[in-house]
Amino acid sequence: MATLEILTIPDPRLKRKSLDVDSFDSKLKKTINNMFETLYSTGNGIGLAAPQVGILKRIVVIDLKKDGNLSPLTFVNPKILSFSNEKSLNEEGCLSIPEYYAEVERPNEVEVEWVDESGKKFSKKMSGLLSICIQHEIDHLNGILFIDYLSKLKRKLALEKVKKIKLKAKR
Ligand code: ZN
Repeated sequence: MATLEILTIPDPRLKRKSLDVDSFDSKLKKTINNMFETLYSTGNGIGLAAPQVGILKRIVVIDLKKDGNLSPLTFVNPKILSFSNEKSLNEEGCLSIPEYYAEVERPNEVEVEWVDESGKKFSKKMSGLLSICIQHEIDHLNGILFIDYLSKLKRKLALEKVKKIKLKAKR
């Protein structure tokens, strides 16, 4: 396994649309394992989409670490089938926009369809943190970042914050 580099804004790869996975081979399993290792290496991350590590494929890994235990969830080619009408505001952050947090409004519940690493199909209604997280990660597969829902001014602030963090890391 290997830890992959997480791209940060304004990397143009974060704005591209990812492609469906069509071969369920050992390469896919390796990519998923590497994505989990990368997610766990961040300490505070709960979700990672493949384009965040420069792989433009529709793969998402999530671990909400329920009750402090590892509970890895893999979503290949995830698709939202339906949204609830009720929405709420929740604070979000993103590994590609380090140390920036803001409130985003999203539907409370979503019904999601996906396949696992061997191509087996699943669907489930999700609520709470998992619902927010899967919506955030599926947005990544479509080149959408949570700051895209914010005002132009807030997007600028986020970009400046990331720039400063990168400069500090270089020193
Ligand atoms: Zn993100």
